[in-house]
Amino acid sequence: MKKLTKVFAAVMAASALLLTGCGDSAQDAGASASAGSETASADNSSSEEQYGPDVAAIIDRGVLRVGVKNAVVGFGFQDTLTGEYSGMEISIAEKIAESLGVDIEFTTVTAATRTELLDSGDIDCVLATFTITDERKESWDFSTPYYTDYVSVLVEDSSGITDLSGLKDKTVGVSSGSTSARSLVSAMIDAGLISGDGFDPETFDPALWTTGVSFRQYDDYPAISTALSAGEVDAFCVDKSILAVYNTEGRSYIQDQFSPQEYGVATTKGSDFSAYVENLIDQWLEDGTIQGFIEENNLQ
Ligand code: GLU
Repeated sequence: MKKLTKVFAAVMAASALLLTGCGDSAQDAGASASAGSETASADNSSSEEQYGPDVAAIIDRGVLRVGVKNAVVGFGFQDTLTGEYSGMEISIAEKIAESLGVDIEFTTVTAATRTELLDSGDIDCVLATFTITDERKESWDFSTPYYTDYVSVLVEDSSGITDLSGLKDKTVGVSSGSTSARSLVSAMIDAGLISGDGFDPETFDPALWTTGVSFRQYDDYPAISTALSAGEVDAFCVDKSILAVYNTEGRSYIQDQFSPQEYGVATTKGSDFSAYVENLIDQWLEDGTIQGFIEENNLQ
């Protein structure tokens, strides 16, 4: 019964989205329906007709499965005592599930695991500080960006490093599967600190780069933080949103921040769910919903 109610709500929401181009909640859907719109039927074939098989499968399952971060305050953060997730990416995900009329299930992902989990079908979408890049767009669909961050670098104060020039010939810790190393090399080239010879952003591999700066890659951010304390790396480079939680006593950001990182919702390439999500994000950017989440989470 519960499931049927959800499917009904979803189909109603679906009708609203089609009619107004901006399906939001069951309430909006109800308003459209009572205004004499197309009558939705509460079966799966109807939502499949309206949206396609991928959205219908989520509605049929009754659960939207979302990959999120668990240690990025303001974006995706999990309370270790209660297990509850919070942050703007959590709120956006919950609102997508609400629009579909389904429950939500969060899976903690890292920069290294988020795409495997999407590719394997374990999750339906990723909202995990996932930067939109041209190369990534070849493999996954991304929504319009909902937030723009910048890359920076965290160091131990005792290192004496205060800006990009201090990173010359140093070893920097980055996460596997991230844009961070490439962004740092590009910024150091732009600042005239290292030569750009041999730098190709498309084929860049952090493991192979040794000109003027080198990298160690880790599976997750706590491991980089530990490596920084232990002196295994001289600096920790990633988006500022992610670094914030590791900016503890005795550590500082260098002065520079660089490489805008536009975060988008990632979905399976070519999936009809991509179009569904895109519509919602565009609507929520326009109506101030996303800005509300940014403010609620004290971002910017
Ligand atoms: N946002 C960057 C990326 O997508 C940093 C990695 C991360 O999100 O953990 O590569």
